[in-house]
Amino acid sequence: MPEYDVIVVGAGNAAFCAALAAQEEGASVLMLEAAPEQESGGNSRFTAGSIRVVYNGVDDIKTLVPDLTEAEIATTDFGTYTQEQFFDDMARVTQHRADPDLVELMVTRSFDTLCWMRDKGVRFIPIYGRQAFKIDGKFKFWGGLTVESVGGGPGLVNMLTEAAKKRGIELRYQTRALDLLYNGSRIEGVRVRSNEQVSELRGKSVVLACGGFESNSEWRTRYLGPGWDLAKVRGTRFNNGDGIRMAMDIGASPRGNWSGCHAVQWEMNAPEFGDLAVGDQFQKHSYPFAILVNANGKRVVDEGADFRNYTYAKYGRVVLEQPGQFAWQIFDQKVKHLQRDEYKIRQVTKVVANTIEELAQKLEGVNAQQFLNTISEYNKAVRTDIAFNPNVKDARRTEHLAVNKSNWANTIDAPPFEGYAVTCGLTFTFGGVRITTEAEVLNTDYQPIRGLYAAGELVGGLFYFNYPGGSGLTSGAVFGRIAGTSAARASKN
Ligand SMILES: Cc1cc2nc3c(=O)[nH]c(=O)nc-3n(C[C@H](O)[C@H](O)[C@H](O)COP(=O)(O)OP(=O)(O)OC[C@H]3O[C@@H](n4cnc5c(N)ncnc54)[C@H](O)[C@@H]3O)c2cc1C
Repeated sequence: MPEYDVIVVGAGNAAFCAALAAQEEGASVLMLEAAPEQESGGNSRFTAGSIRVVYNGVDDIKTLVPDLTEAEIATTDFGTYTQEQFFDDMARVTQHRADPDLVELMVTRSFDTLCWMRDKGVRFIPIYGRQAFKIDGKFKFWGGLTVESVGGGPGLVNMLTEAAKKRGIELRYQTRALDLLYNGSRIEGVRVRSNEQVSELRGKSVVLACGGFESNSEWRTRYLGPGWDLAKVRGTRFNNGDGIRMAMDIGASPRGNWSGCHAVQWEMNAPEFGDLAVGDQFQKHSYPFAILVNANGKRVVDEGADFRNYTYAKYGRVVLEQPGQFAWQIFDQKVKHLQRDEYKIRQVTKVVANTIEELAQKLEGVNAQQFLNTISEYNKAVRTDIAFNPNVKDARRTEHLAVNKSNWANTIDAPPFEGYAVTCGLTFTFGGVRITTEAEVLNTDYQPIRGLYAAGELVGGLFYFNYPGGSGLTSGAVFGRIAGTSAARASKN
């Protein structure tokens, strides 16, 4: 006799949403977490909790954030983020590769799923400051990313853990799933290692929600390519591709952008894996208001190609491809006030100088003469006749440079000047397994593997090349909920 109706592998956002949905269907649920309790929650714990959701105006925001004050409403332009906008963003940033059926589910269920999470005990607030700048006394949200969980990623995982425990969901820490038990026609459970003991746990359905392969340097090099072993990992050290491997060992079909990943600009001297005491603060996301120079003293990318949300996830790769895998972000005092909080942490590699010449000498590893030439050419190329506005794509750009900046271009001439050293920080991998719209895993004959479901990072087919900020949590929540519901229903058959 099976011990559990549903076994969920993992204890991040996708796993908790699966577990809560399965429990809601009346299933007995066991969650397995490889990490010890203090490191539990996977990458979800490392996030800012920013979550992309469709909303049609302030009333929808009020539904998600019931304690929004009248003063906040009066001083905020939330705008809208319609289904069409979310569809367009997914199509554009993935270069039309994203699976339309999976995208449709993520987009159309996003609002409803966040309301469901709120009913389970997750609280959300608007992301003032990072996603809206105050101009003329009013905040204006931009880039489709408007709410975050209270307490960020740690808050999200804590609220989800509490919600699960309150509903009698069993959660075993330091229990790593090793293999799936499979009789050739359906799933029968999971083989696990816990306390140096290997044992078998019986379950009628299994939901794999145990992340991608970002923490596995061997797989990174194998699939993302040479050099990716040198990237820093932004989050958990526990996501080694186990879920993908376990599923493929019993015939699951691989899917998606296996050579692609989400990777950002990240503090150059950050540790190998994320540090929960620092969280996501090693990231350096105010580059749209800066310029980025490499060891040769040259600019390498259009820092202002789009809002931060639509470029940050692909610019880590750009930095990884530079000589020495580093670059410096350069700011002057005109834009310093736009720097996000992460620039103020103690663990930064930062230089400050009163002249550009002094800065050139302080940027370690950079060709100083070429750097001075770059600044001089850049300053001359800025269209200062166009007004600067960080809340919109202002088209204040450079012209006639080998690499132009399309928006938010400001001359660099107001001392003191600042440089921040960044390298590539890998967030999560895009390749995964193939699922149906019920989140059931398909085999290489495109038949469902009975009793096996998947959600979160290890689902392939959603993200290619790039990613609209805040969609990882949305994807995990929507597909986790679907997977949990499907797994619970299947366990009754
Ligand atoms: C620094 C950082 C900031 C981010 N910021 C955001 C953000 O603000 N908004 C956003 O949408 N996304 C953000 N992301 C991306 C986001 O974290 C992920 O897309 C999302 O959390 C993935 O959820 P998940 O549940 O699939 O995986 P995870 O949250 O990583 O959970 C995987 C779980 O599986 C466990 N596990 C792994 N292998 C096994 C095994 N064999 N047996 C048992 N358990 C196992 C892990 O310990 C973990 O608990 C960020 C990521 C990082 C690293």
